[in-house]
Amino acid sequence: MSTQQPCVVLVYQRTTLPWVFESAERAGIRLILVPRPDETVDPDRLPPAVADVLRLDIDGDRAGALATLRKLHETTPFQGICTLYDPAVPFVAEAAGTLGLPGIGRDAALGAQDKRVMRERLASAGLNAPRFVAMKDASAWEDAAHLDFPVVVKPAHGFSSLGVTKAERPDELRAVVDEVWQVCQDTLGEGLIVEEYLDGPEFAVESLAHHGEVTVCAIGYKGEPEGPYFEESVYRAPAVLPEAVRDAIRREVTAAHTALGITDGPTHTELRLRGGRPYLLELGARIGGSGVSGYIVRNVTGLDFAADALRIATGQPPRSFRPGHSPAATGAAANYIVPCGGSGRITAIHGLDELRADPRVDHVVQMLFPGDVVRPYPDFTGYPAFVLSRHATTAEAEEFHRALETAIRVEYAPV
Ligand code: ADP
Repeated sequence: MSTQQPCVVLVYQRTTLPWVFESAERAGIRLILVPRPDETVDPDRLPPAVADVLRLDIDGDRAGALATLRKLHETTPFQGICTLYDPAVPFVAEAAGTLGLPGIGRDAALGAQDKRVMRERLASAGLNAPRFVAMKDASAWEDAAHLDFPVVVKPAHGFSSLGVTKAERPDELRAVVDEVWQVCQDTLGEGLIVEEYLDGPEFAVESLAHHGEVTVCAIGYKGEPEGPYFEESVYRAPAVLPEAVRDAIRREVTAAHTALGITDGPTHTELRLRGGRPYLLELGARIGGSGVSGYIVRNVTGLDFAADALRIATGQPPRSFRPGHSPAATGAAANYIVPCGGSGRITAIHGLDELRADPRVDHVVQMLFPGDVVRPYPDFTGYPAFVLSRHATTAEAEEFHRALETAIRVEYAPV
């Protein structure tokens, strides 16, 4: 590979999720991969775009990780740094700022990562928002008792719906807050938010910002999860929506970028529609779904979203997405997230092998296997598998997903 190619440090991306690596290769961008601390990477089986592997312990030794990056940048300069892993967004913003690389800055990263700060900034910019109460810890639970129930209790630094729990009635609030606080203490760090429950269908919006101009690249349907725990289930794009509603979503998402000060890079927004009005749940300053969003946008629009995201990380302008112009959909793409459907030791997962031969299916990404133990909710072990597929229309994707509901079955034995 030519050393003239721009180089990006990619933080905490699993090589089993290939899409961002493929986009880098297509864009002619070399990657220095920082593996997750728990992942062993085989140097002989790295994606072709990966030029090097660098181990950093961001959680254990943040200053050391920054120093290592600074030293590397002095000897072999790289042009950008990015992550698709939400908890690493603030570190990446700080590293980019320190090294003078493109990035969103520490303050915008704080707003995109701490759900309390995000809610405050969105609400004070006048965006549609549920009423909410921010808390430092569980002892303040009573502050949220005056909200309209049901409410949703969330870790301030959560991701993947970890710990997110609905409380139906005020008399459940204390127990739910305690339960979510336990998840915070175990894994996510301090801070909670309680917000009023927004009913209505859920959507994901994939956008690219460049020099403050926001392009909404795709809008997908995410089901209508009702809780009490909010496991992910489906993603089908493009969402079938009246043009006026799409416009309202674009306006709200664009305004959220302004409110949060996110001027450059990819974002993944989740929102619910209530009476045709979009209410943001959250905006992540990264490519969504560990790269799944790149697959979805590419197959909906024919344009390489992740390649443009990586270009922006190096300071180049996007090439496929013209800033400010939302592309028309040319096809449909979907992700079916296989539900755990129980807990215990997995003895078999039926229905996945057949799918690998299905012409509609591009990837079956299996994450849990026979022998693995799935802990009961609210503990989150992960999802058994993703099934990524392409279709002529979103209606066909929906029909396919309906068939998967019965075709895929996870069997358990008690532990
Ligand atoms: P995370 O970053 O952990 O995924 P989110 O804020 O995105 O946390 O919440 C996870 C899921 O919980 C959402 O996708 C949504 O289904 C549900 N949820 C969160 N907040 C609300 C709310 N105020 N009303 C309704 N559902 C919510």
